Amino acid sequence: MLLHAPEARLVTLLRGYYRSPLCLSSRNGERAYGTARVLATSPSGLRRHQPGHPPSKRSLTTTSGQPPSNIAILGGGITGLVIAAVTAKLHPNSKITLYESSDRLGGWVHSSVVESSDGPVVFELGPRSLRPTTLNGYHALSLAQQVGLEQEMVFTSHESAAGSNRFIYYPDKLVRLPSPADGVPSVLWAMLTNPLFEGLLLAVFRELTVPCRPRGMVDESIGGFLRRRLSGAKGLVDNLASAGMHGIYAGDVNQLSVRSLVTRWWEAEGKYGSVTAGMMKSKPNKYGQNGTTGLHESGEQMVGKVLGQKARASSIYSFTGGMQALPDAVASTIRRSKNVDIRMATGVSGIRLAKDGQSIQIKTTNNEPPRPYDHVISTLPAHRLAPLVPIPSLALIPYTTVMVVNLYYTNPNLIPQPGFGYLIPQSVPFKQNPELALGVVFDSHGTPGVDNAPGTKLTIMIGGHYWDGRKDDEFPTPEEGRIMAERVLARHLKITEKPDRVLATLHKNCIPQYTVGHHDRLQNVDAGIKREFGGRLSVGGSWVDGVGVNDCVLSGAFAALTLGKGRTGLELALESRDKVKAMLPDGFLL
Ligand SMILES: Cc1cc2nc3c(=O)[nH]c(=O)nc-3n(C[C@H](O)[C@H](O)[C@H](O)COP(=O)(O)OP(=O)(O)OC[C@H]3O[C@@H](n4cnc5c(N)ncnc54)[C@H](O)[C@@H]3O)c2cc1C
Repeated sequence: MLLHAPEARLVTLLRGYYRSPLCLSSRNGERAYGTARVLATSPSGLRRHQPGHPPSKRSLTTTSGQPPSNIAILGGGITGLVIAAVTAKLHPNSKITLYESSDRLGGWVHSSVVESSDGPVVFELGPRSLRPTTLNGYHALSLAQQVGLEQEMVFTSHESAAGSNRFIYYPDKLVRLPSPADGVPSVLWAMLTNPLFEGLLLAVFRELTVPCRPRGMVDESIGGFLRRRLSGAKGLVDNLASAGMHGIYAGDVNQLSVRSLVTRWWEAEGKYGSVTAGMMKSKPNKYGQNGTTGLHESGEQMVGKVLGQKARASSIYSFTGGMQALPDAVASTIRRSKNVDIRMATGVSGIRLAKDGQSIQIKTTNNEPPRPYDHVISTLPAHRLAPLVPIPSLALIPYTTVMVVNLYYTNPNLIPQPGFGYLIPQSVPFKQNPELALGVVFDSHGTPGVDNAPGTKLTIMIGGHYWDGRKDDEFPTPEEGRIMAERVLARHLKITEKPDRVLATLHKNCIPQYTVGHHDRLQNVDAGIKREFGGRLSVGGSWVDGVGVNDCVLSGAFAALTLGKGRTGLELALESRDKVKAMLPDGFLL
């Protein structure tokens, strides 16, 4: 059979890799691999490649010795696609059905190509870039490589303006954040002189003597935690921390959970009585004796030396044509497998355990008779899954709404200071930000290679937690969004030119909020899934263990690799890394 182009590349890559000294030597010790390795390897191969070939205690099948033969995956966003691709490979004899309610795959990963006066321009409606060299980042990078996207990757180097210049708007101008690339003396100097960091260095040392949280405190907001432990750092919460939370979650620093989102701080305080002490003591062990060097070595084993080194030199990456390339390429891989049926425009409207407990019945909006499945993996957002199952805690996971406004100008010289973009913290006075904007991304600097448009491309995110509680008719229309975005740019960046193209899109309930108590809510959901579905339902996606695409890739991989073993998928967030690692095949990078 002729190999499709990406598969041919994949085989060549693997061949080269398995012949390399790196691979041969690593067979003597534990070798890391990831999601994508599964795509390229048979289940038996997965076991055979373990160091010393020990008999695996953790089989890839159910306790009955058989993998589920009939599997449903709900949702065709990046998480659902990863699950479908990995499951199709691991269980070639199982029948897999993927249900997607809309007429496209990718979920929030959505690039739109718009015709401008300069030709086609890629507008990102959702994510615009990925970090390549975090732990989860290596899994996504490896996935992208294995689905044939290595040549399409567009890297932004640490040395570039976008790689080293990130700003915060404070109080009425752009303030550059120090970058590790500046070197230690410059970073220290910035921390001593930049008003954003006022009192921070001293507060970090004093933190060693701040009493531990009261017994019985089970969670706290990030804002509350920082105020309690770093009280000397004036404005830290309302400036730096709130800006950071706007950038990732469009969320409120005073509501988001420190336990769920900055778990290492929370655990360090619990274990060592101080975050500073905890960081000093625990860091070297996180990825083995070599600290983060160990992570990068493992990452390089996953993706190979060439890509690994390119990734390490970069702060972010995207793809030619935009982020949509990733779900598209994973979907192409799935379509080539014989055992996956993708059902587009087919929303799931009911999920019920059959009376005999031997299957889950899936009802769809197409009014067909319910279909039985041995196992169902849901990647639906929590608020979409909530009305379909009797697990009340799901409905308690809040989501924010964001308006994304993409603008393209033919003038290439509009951005006053080159960089990735800027975030707008809560401390900015209302008159400086009446539109309630969260941040502005300089796309033409951040991800310049995704298209050939020579002008200036910007994206503005508006709303988020500021809009909590609004009714449907209280959100701005796309036209109002355009006007708001242009006003923000005129006030903050003095850009008064008319854009050549604008696309304003309201994303209702797009980002899950891990607010205080999220961990407990997940525990209740975990118990509910076990109670109501007896090991036949599991979940993955952005409300589980991180909202980023990289996190979703790992969540999807975990759901697929533990399929049929009675896991809910929430173990990723609820159990320790060591326990989660023990649930996965040997050598999986975690
Ligand atoms: C504006 C924005 C910017 C972002 N920026 C970044 C970024 O720069 N970097 C980054 O890493 N991450 C970013 N993210 C986060 C990231 O894009 C998402 O968390 C991730 O794409 C979620 O993927 P998912 O598959 O879990 O969920 P989704 O993308 O929500 O996919 C779920 C799928 O289920 C379908 N569905 C819903 N209900 C049903 C039903 N009843 N039956 C069948 N199907 C159904 C939906 O149509 C959808 O396709 C951003 C998100 C947004 C919204």
